[in-house]
Amino acid sequence: MATLRQKSLMMVQSREDVSFAAPSTKISDYFGSEVFGLSKMKEALAPSVYKKVSEAIEKGQKIDTSSAEEVATAAKAWALEKGVTHYTHWFQPLTGSTAEKHDTFFDAHARIERFKGSALVQQEPDASSFPNGGIRTTFEARGYTAWDPSSPMFIFENTLCIPTIFVSYTGEALDYKTPLLKSVDAVSAAAVPICQLFDRNVKKVNPSLGVEQEYFVIDKALYAARPDLVMAGRTVFGHNPARGQQLDDHYFGSIPGRVKAFMKHFEIEAWKLGIPVSTRHNEVAPGQFEVAPVFEEINKATDHNQLLMDMMDKVADQHGLKVLFHEKPFAGLNGSGKHNNWSLITDTGVNLFQPSNSARENLQFLTFLVATIKAVYDHADILRASIASAANDFRLGANEAPPAIISVFLGSTLTSVLDELEKNGNIKIEKGDNMYMKLGINKIPEIILDNTDRNRTSPFAFTGNKFEFRAVGSSANVAGPMTALNVIAAETLQNMYADIKAEMEGGNEKKIAIVNVLRKYIKDSKKVRFEGDGYSEEWANEAEKRGLSNLKSTPFALDILEAKSTASLYEKHNVLNATELHARHEIRLENYIMKVQIESRVMGDLALNHIIPTAIQYQNKLIENANGLKGLGLDAKAAIETVSEISKHIESLKDNVLAMIDARRKLNKEEDIVKRAKGYSTDVKDAFFDKIRYSADKLELFVDDEFWPLVKYREMLFLR
Ligand code: ADP
Ligand code: MG
Repeated sequence: MATLRQKSLMMVQSREDVSFAAPSTKISDYFGSEVFGLSKMKEALAPSVYKKVSEAIEKGQKIDTSSAEEVATAAKAWALEKGVTHYTHWFQPLTGSTAEKHDTFFDAHARIERFKGSALVQQEPDASSFPNGGIRTTFEARGYTAWDPSSPMFIFENTLCIPTIFVSYTGEALDYKTPLLKSVDAVSAAAVPICQLFDRNVKKVNPSLGVEQEYFVIDKALYAARPDLVMAGRTVFGHNPARGQQLDDHYFGSIPGRVKAFMKHFEIEAWKLGIPVSTRHNEVAPGQFEVAPVFEEINKATDHNQLLMDMMDKVADQHGLKVLFHEKPFAGLNGSGKHNNWSLITDTGVNLFQPSNSARENLQFLTFLVATIKAVYDHADILRASIASAANDFRLGANEAPPAIISVFLGSTLTSVLDELEKNGNIKIEKGDNMYMKLGINKIPEIILDNTDRNRTSPFAFTGNKFEFRAVGSSANVAGPMTALNVIAAETLQNMYADIKAEMEGGNEKKIAIVNVLRKYIKDSKKVRFEGDGYSEEWANEAEKRGLSNLKSTPFALDILEAKSTASLYEKHNVLNATELHARHEIRLENYIMKVQIESRVMGDLALNHIIPTAIQYQNKLIENANGLKGLGLDAKAAIETVSEISKHIESLKDNVLAMIDARRKLNKEEDIVKRAKGYSTDVKDAFFDKIRYSADKLELFVDDEFWPLVKYREMLFLR
């Protein structure tokens, strides 16, 4: 057998159990032990300082210099006591991962440990290596990171990590967190006036987020033996084990021991970091799993998801495992997503997406429900762009969960509530009438919870008391899609409030005014609602008739970022300006090109240097065999047929790889980045990837298993 494949398979056999232990059997004893949160601040700071700091955090205000000094001193003392020597500003650059620049507390001149307030509040990492989409020219390659007190400091890998935003010297956002925080303010500002129509006490609305994270786990040695996984994060070749998932039912259903140990281990680490993972683990496909923390305020949930992915990667390593966060590591198996469960919760504790038994609250619920549907309808392309990436295209573009068409699923109960409200448009409400009863919204049946989650094919589903944006890719930073969702919700809520106001000024009573606006919005946004099978071809046709977009490829889906209307939307809500949006467009196109380029190169290398030579070697064996048979005067038909089949695939593989290289060469001369990216999508990926894979996977079937150089699917996917 090919040596690397063989060696790696032997390594898997020799894996031993890894020991690890929880600090205590009670999770509450150590939950958040590595986090410098409010409770630790309260212990460590003078009451007057604590009051200032906690209030500033709650209101999202700046913390003054002297308080920052006190926080720094307290955080340092806490960290040193835990054996920590370094601190870092922890931020989320537009590369998609997290970045750090470590500094030591130790001051070599003074020979003491120091941590000044100024070092907590601001830092200047050498930012030139982070993508900026042309915002910073090289002579002004400076950026700075600034403390985000709303997300607590934590200790990770023996370093005190300070969550920060990352901006250019001229103030443009170079990261994911800055626009997310601004979008939170925007949606709150737009939602509060509507809430106040129902309850004057509401002063703030917070978006909440619960992230269901899917991932694959394979053995580390097998990962290292697949150049495509290492370089591109996914297998570009590999024949499906016995027709994919359906037939493998008997293989899975119970989680393999090694993975179980890994899960238990990373759960403990998550709890230490204050990440509220609940013990829910499903196996979705062979080798695929899911983890979901309980929902939190959106900024924290986002940081926690980034941290969780980082931490899982490190814990897996200790177990001889590799976690794959790629959206489609294995063809023919489920892809991985990251369901974003999103809701809006008032500072009075009301979830605005929670149906209730009180008719009044139900009207409020319906208002926010309808506003969200309308927002998705009006700005579907912005949502689509927010989840676009080269890797996610393998889910969204293909016949898989969920489709590239953005639609909203409500479930039959709510659908009929909205239909009735729309139909009853002409019902006259008289003074003294029970309007709610007359419109059929006095009570929304409780079955909603059971009724809503059936449809797994929808990219954006209402699931009982929250919306679930399911089209988000498993490797994505959720700040991108959540910023988009907050912004479009803010826009619609703001317009809605203006419309309600206008109705009231026209002489309608408040409730009637609201209902009139709801009816209009329900009618206007009806086309985006879809309850059927999102994977079906009928839906693609139907969606086209309805005029809904179906953008299957990233560079095309990103066009909307350059639209004037998008810039004015983001500017209006003070989330991103035109320059920042343009930079993001550029960075994401660059990223797309790079990803497709890498995949295409890996494909070429594997085909030319591994697969074709192996196939020829095996072919020679067959030729020898055929000649031998003939020499004995026997029929060599079977051997000769196989030889010619193999020849056919070798030729096609080689021709296509060479033609693909040629297509790349042409495109690399294209100076317009939009055209280049679109070309990579159509002339490289669409034109060649499937064809090349087809021949390579056929050869895997023909060539003697002993000869085959690449670790096979069945070897990677079924861990013990
Ligand atoms: P499933 O989608 O598999 O049915 P759950 O209903 O348990 O799973 O919830 C999935 C995620 O949604 C969890 O992270 C949960 O904390 C989160 N969630 C529940 N309620 C809300 C809410 N009001 N806002 C945001 N997220 C929520
Ligand atoms: Mg879900």
